[in-house]
Amino acid sequence: MDNIGFFVLNTFLFCTCSASPPNFVLLFADDLGFGDLSCYGHPSSLTPNLDRLAAGGLRFTDFYCTSPVCSPSRASLLTGRYQTRSGIYPGVLYPGSRGGLPLNETTIAEVLKPMGYATAAIGKWHLGVGANGMFLPTRQGFDHYLGIPYSHDMHTHYPQYAGQGAAGRTLRGPFGDALFEFDNTIGNLLTTLEKTGVTNNTLVFFTSDNGPELMRLSRGGNAGPLKCGKGTTYEGGMREPAIAFWPGTIRPGVTHEMASTLDILPTIASLAGAKLPQVMLDGVDMTEILVNQEKSKRETMVFYPTDPAEKYGLFALRLGKYKAHFYTQGATHSGTTPDQDCPVFAVLKAHDPPLIFDLEADPSEHYPLPLTGKPDLQALLERIKKVKEQFEASMVFGESQISKGTDPDLEPCCNPQCSPKPGCCKC
Ligand code: MG
Repeated sequence: MDNIGFFVLNTFLFCTCSASPPNFVLLFADDLGFGDLSCYGHPSSLTPNLDRLAAGGLRFTDFYCTSPVCSPSRASLLTGRYQTRSGIYPGVLYPGSRGGLPLNETTIAEVLKPMGYATAAIGKWHLGVGANGMFLPTRQGFDHYLGIPYSHDMHTHYPQYAGQGAAGRTLRGPFGDALFEFDNTIGNLLTTLEKTGVTNNTLVFFTSDNGPELMRLSRGGNAGPLKCGKGTTYEGGMREPAIAFWPGTIRPGVTHEMASTLDILPTIASLAGAKLPQVMLDGVDMTEILVNQEKSKRETMVFYPTDPAEKYGLFALRLGKYKAHFYTQGATHSGTTPDQDCPVFAVLKAHDPPLIFDLEADPSEHYPLPLTGKPDLQALLERIKKVKEQFEASMVFGESQISKGTDPDLEPCCNPQCSPKPGCCKC
């Protein structure tokens, strides 16, 4: 019925179980939009525990994932690299996919293991299973894994779930109830950290993998003031809520600095004193933003569509407060919105010169800046083009893992010996 998996909370746990260096808890929501949380302005969402994190931690206003869909976004979170490098494109992995996150990619878990960390992944994975489970988290540096390897709508799947403590408790309907359930789970986790006395030595970082699936109407998420949602390279597809919580180390506040899921691996490596992988990383260390609320080292963010190709390159690029769209395209996931740029019938459109928006003055990307007769904006355009050219010269597309296709025999099956698959896997 739906593809709103955000109650399938991803939790990545990295624990030293000692006084120093710190523990890390990464909380990764699924399809949660910029405007979905109470602490991000939603009027009827009930998210007291995430609000508590935001009130006691650092809340980001300009935080980005790297893709408007699940698998590539998750690949970037765990590797600190754009998905085009690791080959997690086009689209997402399926239950019978032959490919997965390549084993020669270095995940956050693999960065931390040499430092003696215990590691666990809980929840949706969506980075492949492969033959004999070769792409599962336990092959990617995690000691433990408990979860489902794909989105819940690719299995027998459930509608948005809310338990007895959450069902019917919010003003927002089924989506709000599921979000409340999700928030309760985070509350339980925070209580456990408090009871075990490790709160002051644990960085908790919360964000989401991509924007809201607007095609689900009121049962999809909400992008707040941002344009479009899941599947698009507009802000609604890739700008996410993000909160960093570490009492005694991170001062409560709000930051408007630009940061990304790409930056989490280098930041964790820095805080743990771990070595960075010897590969081309796209992330930058954001420790100074977290600890001292200083300026970001990140000046640019690039936006690839769900099906990136070398022929087109990046679709958009943010430089400082300006974002330039070289291509725009709607998406099925963002259907039903009244904005005609969002649904799938908004076909691929090239923009030369690019559409440029000032995201500080116009976060909704409503009003492209008029370039004609504006020498300062012409100079900005030239700078943006140069940054784009330099970035694309550094981009080597990895072999597409998703184009390797599917094999029904690889699908997780409740009756592994049955045949023919996948039809017999109905237990
Ligand atoms: Mg998702």
